[in-house]
Amino acid sequence: MTSDTPSGASVDVVICGGGFAGLTLARQVQREHPDLSVAVIDRLARPLPEGAFKVGESTVEMAAYYLRDVLGLAEYLDGAHLRKLGLRLFFPQPEGTTTFAERPEIGLSKFATVPSYQIDRGRFEHDLRGLIEEDGARMIEGARLDEVEMGENGAPHRVFYYGDDSPERQSLTARWVVDASGRRRLLQRQLNLGTQREADHNAVWFRIEGLLDVDDLVPAENRAWHDRVPDGKRRFSTNHLVDTGYWVWIIPLSSNKTSIGIVALKDMHPFDDFRNLERAQDWLRRKEPAFAEKLAQHEVLDFGAIRNYSHSSKQVFSADRWACTGDAAVFADPLYSPGADLIAFANCSISWMIGEEIAGRLTPEVAEEKSRFVISMSELLTRSIQVNYHIMGCPQAMGGKLFWDITAGWSVVQPLMFGKTFLDNAKRDAVRAASRNFFFLSLQMNQLFSDWAKQSRGHVGFEFIDYFVVDAIREMRDRNLVPDKPVEELVADQQENMRLLEELAQALFRIAVADVHPEHAHKLEGKWLNAWAISLDPAKWDERGLFTPRSAPRDISRVSVPLNKAFRVRELQH
Ligand SMILES: Cc1cc2nc3c(=O)[nH]c(=O)nc-3n(C[C@H](O)[C@H](O)[C@H](O)COP(=O)(O)OP(=O)(O)OC[C@H]3O[C@@H](n4cnc5c(N)ncnc54)[C@H](O)[C@@H]3O)c2cc1C
Repeated sequence: MTSDTPSGASVDVVICGGGFAGLTLARQVQREHPDLSVAVIDRLARPLPEGAFKVGESTVEMAAYYLRDVLGLAEYLDGAHLRKLGLRLFFPQPEGTTTFAERPEIGLSKFATVPSYQIDRGRFEHDLRGLIEEDGARMIEGARLDEVEMGENGAPHRVFYYGDDSPERQSLTARWVVDASGRRRLLQRQLNLGTQREADHNAVWFRIEGLLDVDDLVPAENRAWHDRVPDGKRRFSTNHLVDTGYWVWIIPLSSNKTSIGIVALKDMHPFDDFRNLERAQDWLRRKEPAFAEKLAQHEVLDFGAIRNYSHSSKQVFSADRWACTGDAAVFADPLYSPGADLIAFANCSISWMIGEEIAGRLTPEVAEEKSRFVISMSELLTRSIQVNYHIMGCPQAMGGKLFWDITAGWSVVQPLMFGKTFLDNAKRDAVRAASRNFFFLSLQMNQLFSDWAKQSRGHVGFEFIDYFVVDAIREMRDRNLVPDKPVEELVADQQENMRLLEELAQALFRIAVADVHPEHAHKLEGKWLNAWAISLDPAKWDERGLFTPRSAPRDISRVSVPLNKAFRVRELQH
C-alpha cells in the first residue's frame, strides 16, 4: 500500500528506507524538530512478520540508552521486547571432556542496573512505523526507491520511486535526504563512496519456532552448573558458542522464537560449508553436536546469508543536506552487537546537523568532522573486534580479551552516547585528551591476546567467570553510563578509567605470563610495570622498557585479586 502522498509532494526530510535506522531517525527528527515534516519510503508494507524478519536483535547499553531515552521508547521496550542478560560465551569443549557443562563459560549471573534488550526486529519495525505515523510522519510503503536527484545550491533534492499502485515513476522533493536503505546503499552507490573490507567474514542465520534454552543442554541434576546463573536466566543472554574462527549466536525473541546465526572467518571455515540451511544444519551437527541435537526439535522459519559483511565509506554526511545511516553508511562486525550503536551515533549526528543547517550554521567542515567520527568509530570497532576470530578457541586469551573489550567499551566508546557527549566538541575533546594514551595501550593488548592464544599452555583457566567479578569494573560502568555530566566530571571519570585500564592491562599481562611463561612470572612480582611495553617475549622486556614505568606505582589488587582467582592462577600452577 502506498500512502496518499501525491507525486511531486514536498517534505523537509525524506528517509529512503524504513528499517531500524530509518525509522529510529524518523522518530528522533520528529522529537527534536517537531516543526519539520518527515516521510519514510520502504519497499515492504505492513504487516511485518514477527521474529523471522531481519538480523540485528541484540543491543548493548548505549543503543538501549538511545532507544529508551533519546527516542522515549523505554515503556514500549519493557513491554514488547526482552531484557538482555549481557553477553555469554561458551568456549570449546576441553580435551578429555564430553559434556556441555564442562565448557568454560563467561557471562553474567544477574541482570545489570543499566538495561539492554533483545529486540524482535519485525515487531519493532512494525510498531515503530505506527508510532511515527501517529506523530505525523508519512510512511510510504510498498514503494521501490529508484534514484536521488541531488539539488544544488540550496535547491531541494528529489527522490524517485515506484509505488505499488501505478507503473509511473513518482517523486518526492525534500530539503534533506537520508539514505537508510540498508545494504542497497542507494546514495553510497550513486556517489561512489562505499568501500569494502578485505577480510572475508561471512554469516548465515535463521529463526526457529519456540525457545531454545541453553540451560536444557545440561541435565537439571547438575545443580552446581545451573546455580551459577540462578532462575534459568541464561536464555536471556546473547549466548555464543565459540571456537577458533567462528561463533554461533542464540538469541531469544519476545515472539517466542529463537534467532540462530553462524558467523565465521572464511579462511578457517569456508562459506560453502554452511551457505544454505541444509549445509548449516550439517555444519552445526559437526561443530556443535549437543546444540544441533536440541535444534533438530524445532521448526525452522527462515534462512538468510551474507558474505563479506563489513563495509565502510569515504563519506557519510554532507553539508549539501544529505546523509547515510545504518547499513547504508557503515557496517563493522556483529560480534558485541555494535550495529545499533553505530546507528545511534549516525542518527544523533544527522538530527543535530539538520537543526544546524536550518539555523544556517552547518558548514562543510562540521559535516565532514561528524562524518569522520562515524567512519572512524566503525573502523575502530571493526579492527578491535575482528582480531578476536583468531583467538576465540583459546578461553584464556579470549577471556582476557573480553575483560579488556568490555572495560574499554564502557570507558572509551559507550559514555560518548550518554547525554550525546560526542556532539559537544568541548566535552568530546576534553574526554579525548584524557584518554589519549588508550589507543597505543589497546594495540599492545591486542597483540598480547593474539600471542597468548598461540602460546597458551593451560597453566591458567576457568570453568565459569561472571564478568562483574571485578567490582571496580562494574562500578566504572555504572559511573560512566550516565547522561549529562559536566565536563569536569567527565574528565575526572576518564582519568579514573585510564587508571583502571592501566591496572587491568598489568593484571591480564601477569595472568598471560603465568599461563605461557610461568618460569618468568617471578620477575614481575611486586613490580609496577610499563603497561605500554608488555609482551610475551621475556627476552624483550628490558629492551622495551617494561620495568621503566610511565606512572607512579599503584596497588592493582582491586583488579588482580579477583582476576587471579577467576583465572585460577595459583591453583593450577601448584
Ligand atoms: C550477521 C549479522 C548479525 C547482526 N547482529 C546484530 C545485533 O545483534 N545487533 C545489532 O545491533 N546489529 C546487528 N547487526 C547489524 C544490523 O543488522 C544492522 O545494523 C541493521 O539491521 C541495519 O539497519 P538498517 O535500517 O540500516 O537496514 P535494514 O534494516 O536492512 O533496512 C533497510 C530498509 O530499506 C528498505 N529498502 C532497501 N532497498 C530499497 C529500495 N530499493 N526501495 C525501497 N526500500 C528499500 C528495505 O526494505 C529495508 O526495510 C547484524 C548484522 C549481521 C550481518
